[in-house]
Amino acid sequence: MDKYSNFKLKIAAKPSLFHGRTVRKAVGQSLWYRIRDHILQKDTPVCSICGFSPQPDEMRNLHLHEIEDYDFENIVVTLSGLNLICANCHAFHHFGFTQLYSSKEKMERLIEHFAKVNECEINDFKDYRRSLLFRRQPEAETKKTKTNLSFQDIKAGNYTVRYAIIGDIPFKDEVIDKLNKKGVYYQYK
Ligand SMILES: [Zn+2]
Ligand SMILES: [Zn+2]
Repeated sequence: MDKYSNFKLKIAAKPSLFHGRTVRKAVGQSLWYRIRDHILQKDTPVCSICGFSPQPDEMRNLHLHEIEDYDFENIVVTLSGLNLICANCHAFHHFGFTQLYSSKEKMERLIEHFAKVNECEINDFKDYRRSLLFRRQPEAETKKTKTNLSFQDIKAGNYTVRYAIIGDIPFKDEVIDKLNKKGVYYQYK
């Protein structure tokens, strides 16, 4: 039983093989900003997790999180959707990165946010974080986690990550076109 299953805000971390590899980076800023603008105009600009609603001058605190799956065998990041979330909630979706690059004060503020959103105590957060250290990554349950890459290649970043797009995102055709031109589009049969 997972006693944390009622948490609205959860901790996730991207596998290191795919660090820094995103559709956003692959397609470039101008197309990505068009996608973001499109979503901001269509949807009510609120965090889909905690409900934070930014003032017009703090829209940059609303991020577009890429919902991803990872295929270690083919070295593919699958983008299955985009989620509007606030910077504070987003920090927990990339928790490895957040822990590395946040000051102690920032971490404390983030943990307070976590406790507020999940209506729990700071200690519950600590228990939850501890419980994750002993658990396999969720993707291990559904996807193959073995790669044929050598340790040296991984260490040197000597591999190409490709991207698959499933589900609907704005300007999907353009995104696929751009990935194709760069030779990094992957289509699942
Ligand atoms: Zn939020
Ligand atoms: Zn994200």
